[in-house]
Amino acid sequence: MTTSAAQRSVEMGTPMFRQYWQIKAQYPDPDTILFFHVGDFYEMFFDDAKTAAPLLEITLTTRNPNDASPIPLCGIPIHAADGYVAKLLAAGKKVALCEQVEDPKQAKGVVRRDVVRVITPGAVLDAEGLNAREHNYLAALVVDHARYGLAVIDISTGEFRATEFGSLAAAREEIDRIGPRELLVPSELPWSPTTRAMTCTPLEAAAFDRTTLPLLAGCDAVGALGQSAAAAIWHYLHYTKVAGAKPITHITTLQPYQAHDYLVLDETTRRNLELLQTLHDGQRAGSLLWLLDRTSTAMGARRLRHWLLYPLRSVTAIDARLDAVQQLMADVTRQEILLATLAGVADLERIAGRIATGHASPRDIIALRDSLRHLPTIIRTLPESPPLLASFSHAIDPCADAADRIAATLVDQPPLSAGDGGVIRDGVDAELDRLRALQYEGKGFIARLEASERARTGIGSLKVRFNRVFGYYLEITHTHRDRVPADYIRKQTLTNAERYITPALKEYEEQVVTAEARSHALEYEHFTRLREELAHALPRIQQSARQVADLDALLALARVAQEGDYCRPTLVEAPMIAIEAGRHPVVERMLRDERFVPNDCCVGMSAPQGEPRGIHPPLPLGRGMGEGETSPNTPLLIITGPNMAGKSTIMRQVGLITLLAHLGSFVPAKRAVIGLTDRIFTRVGASDNVARGQSTFMVEMAEAATILREATAHSLILIDELGRGTSTYDGISIAWAVAEYLHDHVHARTLFATHYHELARLADTKPGVANFTMAVKEWNDRIIFLRTLVPGAADRSYGIEVARLAGLPPSVTTRARELLAELEQDPWRTASAPPAAQLGLFPSPDPRHEAVCERLRILDPQTLTPLAALTLLAELVEQVRDTTAI
Ligand code: ATP
Repeated sequence: MTTSAAQRSVEMGTPMFRQYWQIKAQYPDPDTILFFHVGDFYEMFFDDAKTAAPLLEITLTTRNPNDASPIPLCGIPIHAADGYVAKLLAAGKKVALCEQVEDPKQAKGVVRRDVVRVITPGAVLDAEGLNAREHNYLAALVVDHARYGLAVIDISTGEFRATEFGSLAAAREEIDRIGPRELLVPSELPWSPTTRAMTCTPLEAAAFDRTTLPLLAGCDAVGALGQSAAAAIWHYLHYTKVAGAKPITHITTLQPYQAHDYLVLDETTRRNLELLQTLHDGQRAGSLLWLLDRTSTAMGARRLRHWLLYPLRSVTAIDARLDAVQQLMADVTRQEILLATLAGVADLERIAGRIATGHASPRDIIALRDSLRHLPTIIRTLPESPPLLASFSHAIDPCADAADRIAATLVDQPPLSAGDGGVIRDGVDAELDRLRALQYEGKGFIARLEASERARTGIGSLKVRFNRVFGYYLEITHTHRDRVPADYIRKQTLTNAERYITPALKEYEEQVVTAEARSHALEYEHFTRLREELAHALPRIQQSARQVADLDALLALARVAQEGDYCRPTLVEAPMIAIEAGRHPVVERMLRDERFVPNDCCVGMSAPQGEPRGIHPPLPLGRGMGEGETSPNTPLLIITGPNMAGKSTIMRQVGLITLLAHLGSFVPAKRAVIGLTDRIFTRVGASDNVARGQSTFMVEMAEAATILREATAHSLILIDELGRGTSTYDGISIAWAVAEYLHDHVHARTLFATHYHELARLADTKPGVANFTMAVKEWNDRIIFLRTLVPGAADRSYGIEVARLAGLPPSVTTRARELLAELEQDPWRTASAPPAAQLGLFPSPDPRHEAVCERLRILDPQTLTPLAALTLLAELVEQVRDTTAI
């Protein structure tokens, strides 16, 4: 039910609601809830109240219950607003904070109010509950003649970048990778959000006018569409009043970038490789990021996450990171000093953002001072080589001037809020010192007064107290009522005492209270002046923050590598992967009772001109994976093997090792040579997307189609089961045809795990196909999983054995064995030709069939005698029978 026009017109009558509706009209977006400042509360009215109350789990009441049209109302105390705002943002709502902008005591008529900020999921600063270890992105998308411009910003840190795409699919993929909390789109573009966690905000076309974008560094290198998208973001920053009335100073650069400069990991792959969260419960624990994130600072955590989503594709850049990781691993003492120092560094990026937008608290500024003071230790500890680490020591600026200025101005342990006093040091301002002395003196006076009044009245229990309602007062219990002097003025009677004031008390109180209020105001002035001065140091602080974040992320990689006994991978241009004794980084960590069995895996081309760079001795890898067993160019490995044998694990392991290498991380293996990869594709297990209206089989096929369409010779493809969502024959045929296509046309490095053992026969005719299987041992009617990848193909699935292990009742497994025996008589399983030929799915023209057709095509039935017709029919039948007998 929406607010009726009638109700609105009634309410328009009262001045406050007239003001309410005027302000509300400026924020017509139905998702924007107006927080209307009334006294100590933010109140929400009408539809806003009805929407917000259930989301905030607060009571929905009415303002004037006895009226014909009572006004729906709910409210929250101002001091607790942050938590409530965070809840509304999480529900995809926006909050317009409408404050009283004049002192209600001074107001003539209704107090003036104004919207001071609009907090939206993308336009959030720290106080509203950001996750410190993740970026909070706001993105904008614009389209023109089938080209797409995309810009993205993290307002809290100032990171701002833009790029362009030639297709909607590519733009969507990048939006998925960024995972923005909010996406700005032109209102004429109908756009469905790709994830539920993203709010879509339409903006009028004028917001995308690139001429309104200020001249930020890097702007010229961004294309026109990227600039348009960036302009929309800039427009929105002003609309949401992120920096209040001040200019936005912490966003100085618009970084151009190209998505294809990085290894592409689409949404399916990120999910299947469990990069940020696990497949089964969506938790961070158990993901690759969880394993890698040994960072000490929130900045480092965000940087590592970014590296994981944007792996590099330049051998030089990757090697620079690997050199740094190696150096950090080699010098444990240095590593320990750096770790201990980083532990004391606060989130400089976000503090910088809060300084720029005028939201930094005294504690933020003290944290900044303490963090800056740690930077010289970092600079001193960094080695002079390799170049990446050395570059940090040059680029980190400890901003000693800023740190000194803070130290000279603020007390060491200030309160949370700048308005409550106790923030500025003594000696900073003579007037402030004088006011403080006055307050101190005033308080001393009150203590003395208590003693002297006790003496004067003879009431030992007389007390001077303070509360917000009366200010200072004297309290005397009823027992001593008759001894109260005549000059005491009674203010309040309690059950067992009376409260009084005296003119002298009030005079002093006035002095103390006024001095306090004036000193608080003065302190606030000093604090904001300091904050504004610090804004000038922001570029230097931000630059230092970036280096510290990089260093922290590299240290995390070094620690993981050290503890996990990882090796340095060799990156080569050739499309190959050669891993000796590789492990799955997460599974090996999770195994409790079992030891993880390392595996070798070689796929793709061998390196040009013999051995790959940097590998001595060359890698022909143990257990039959070396020369002579697989051809030097085997891009497609078909992996068969029983259920539970470890097929999925080895495939993911190869994907993760490849990814880690592109990140600049060491890898869980004894040795690894990894060819540069443009994209990792995965098609794993059964998953359905009911929410998007797709069945399991449809999802499988859509993923396979993407792979066939988009993979190149430099891609890595991991297919774990294909065609299982349909009938067996359809499934085998599809899996076979897809594998064949990948081999013949795509030439990408491919690991293809399947339960269709028939696929092993592909290797008979395709030179680039090799068969591998997960070894098992049969023992006493049981199977033992050896977890070892060996050449060859499996001939059995042992599915029933695994079903028995899983606890299926013996009667069912026995019956299953009988049925299996029957089915194994099926000629399909024993046929020697590829299934395609039997099913006739891929018909090849037979010359004899064609001869029959040709004879019929040239025949004129009118000219045939009955006998000639019969003779011809007999001949044709003979000819066809001959054909079918083949
Ligand atoms: P299915 O065909 O049923 O999907 P699968 O062959 O893909 O099975 P995985 O899921 O890879 O099998 O592995 C099953 C379990 O075996 C894993 O959860 C893991 O605990 C264990 N495992 C896999 N590989 C190894 C290994 N190399 N060393 C030790 N344990 C392993």
